[in-house]
Amino acid sequence: MPYKLDKIKLDKDGLIPAVIQDARTYEVLMVAWMNRDAIEKTVTTGHTWFWSRSRQKLWQKGETSGHVQIVDEIYHDCDADTLLIRVNQVGAACHEGYRSCFHYRMDPTGGVAVVGELAFDPDVVYGRKPPEADEVKKPRKRVLSEEEFQATCGVLEMLYALIKDRKQKRPAGAYTTYLFDKGLDKILKKVGEETTEVIVGAKNNIREEVINEVADLFFHVLVLLAEKNVHLDDVLRELQARRK
Ligand code: AMP
Ligand code: ZN
Ligand code: ZN
Ligand code: ZN
Repeated sequence: MPYKLDKIKLDKDGLIPAVIQDARTYEVLMVAWMNRDAIEKTVTTGHTWFWSRSRQKLWQKGETSGHVQIVDEIYHDCDADTLLIRVNQVGAACHEGYRSCFHYRMDPTGGVAVVGELAFDPDVVYGRKPPEADEVKKPRKRVLSEEEFQATCGVLEMLYALIKDRKQKRPAGAYTTYLFDKGLDKILKKVGEETTEVIVGAKNNIREEVINEVADLFFHVLVLLAEKNVHLDDVLRELQARRK
């Protein structure tokens, strides 16, 4: 075996927690326990094996669901009491039907939101109902692909170009047309309102509200720039000049 397993520290029950991470996206998929047998089987078979404390037996992830994990790399941490295993996940890691077990977000307001989308029907695969949720939210992507990064970088410029086009053509029924027709005072009022909404969302610690209201604010600030014939480029250049 090419691994030095004697360095690994097991706890008093002979167990070590293993963090299972997606090899491509680095999403944390699950955490489960391994004992020496589970580590050895994982290393030799290239699939993940764990020790189930509730069932008191070794299990291979995916043995009933088919949702196996193909091992890419294995790490241990600085004091060798935790494993990190990067895997290519077949199907989804969580037996509740989500790709990651970490789909319950504990909100600072006290609620719990289920974040993510069901990857499969847990009733079909495991004969269990999907978790009940007060709220289901789309996951936010933390890691942007190069393409997404490029796309989001240009989003303000593209929106500004569209707004300027609206200002010139005034298509009937467009909200932006309405703002330009009403004029500067209306636009300033909206900038003020959206600023207040950002403040309220931030004070109430409601993340989605902060995101939505800052987006509203950015939009109305761009309308203001177009109304005043100030180029977005000039603002971005000013920000750039202030770096360092
Ligand atoms: P599987 O390994 O997906 O074939 O599932 C077999 C059994 O292992 C399930 O019925 C669960 O009891 C358990 N299990 C599967 N995935 C997880 C997980 N991510 N976390 C905890 N237990 C799991
Ligand atoms: Zn440690
Ligand atoms: Zn789970
Ligand atoms: Zn708003």
